[in-house]
Amino acid sequence: MVTLQEWLEEIDARARTRLGTGRVADYIPALAEQKADRFGIAVCTNEGDIYTAGEAQEPFSIQSIAKVFLLTLALRVQGDALWERVGLNPSGMPFNSLAQLEAERGKPRNPFINAGAIAVADRLVSAYATPSKHLRDVARTLSGNASIRIDARVRESEWRHRARNAAMAYLMKAFGNIDNDVDQVLDAYFSCCALAMSCVDLARALNYLAADGHARAIGAPFIAPDLARKINSLLFTCGMYDAAGDFAYRVGLPAKSGVGGGIVAIVPGRLSVCAWSPALDDSGNSVAAQYALELIAETLGHTQAPGGGLAARPRQHAP
Ligand code: GLN
Repeated sequence: MVTLQEWLEEIDARARTRLGTGRVADYIPALAEQKADRFGIAVCTNEGDIYTAGEAQEPFSIQSIAKVFLLTLALRVQGDALWERVGLNPSGMPFNSLAQLEAERGKPRNPFINAGAIAVADRLVSAYATPSKHLRDVARTLSGNASIRIDARVRESEWRHRARNAAMAYLMKAFGNIDNDVDQVLDAYFSCCALAMSCVDLARALNYLAADGHARAIGAPFIAPDLARKINSLLFTCGMYDAAGDFAYRVGLPAKSGVGGGIVAIVPGRLSVCAWSPALDDSGNSVAAQYALELIAETLGHTQAPGGGLAARPRQHAP
């Protein structure tokens, strides 16, 4: 039986064989300059133990992973009334598609595509004076890392190249689904996408989804167990954009990816894991991070190590 640490190191070595595949996001210059040869992975068990391999401490742009924090905060503020503004179903379309939004009268399919997250950000602009700072502070608290910051260059770059996201926001505004000033809503959305966090930060910060809503860092429930279960269900069906079905088949875990190359996956009742590598496939999901999570998923269902940590399966069973 290999230990989880040994298994992560093996995953790191195997995921690196995929580093030549895919393309770094190039829709904004600040992301286009990322180096494609990076890989990191961090596991946070529900007991609070951290295991890492590769560049797990390196901060990267969390991008759409911010949509999980946005949704959690909006549900805390608004509860189920949020679902009058945003749907609960997979879109089957690219994350930045406008086509469906017009046909469905400005109500985005789900909170994990761009239009959905922008509608959610509008709710937070109504609720908080400085929503992105609030979200940053929540990320700091949940991860136990007070140095987490919003990367001003990325935020600026998103703003300068905002045409498509602005089009979505204005379309929703025209249908009455955005209450606040569009520029203010976009600024909140871009600022949250521009948070720079590491695999360790993200695995820690989103562990509440694995732990029935309990956040170890605050020593108290962050959300109700029922809400954690519901968010995980949405992550399972919608978290990987139009590739959600492929990922569900290959990995079978609730997960959220971002075009910075990060993917967080949740193993309810056991652990949270974040893998990161900047090169993406055509759906905008990191090639090497998806592969790493596939390897992680293969080890699940096997023995729990003492202390509740995950024990990886015997080496000879690894493909
Ligand atoms: N900031 C990105 C955008 O708005 C987020 C998209 C993503 O990570 N999929 O397009």
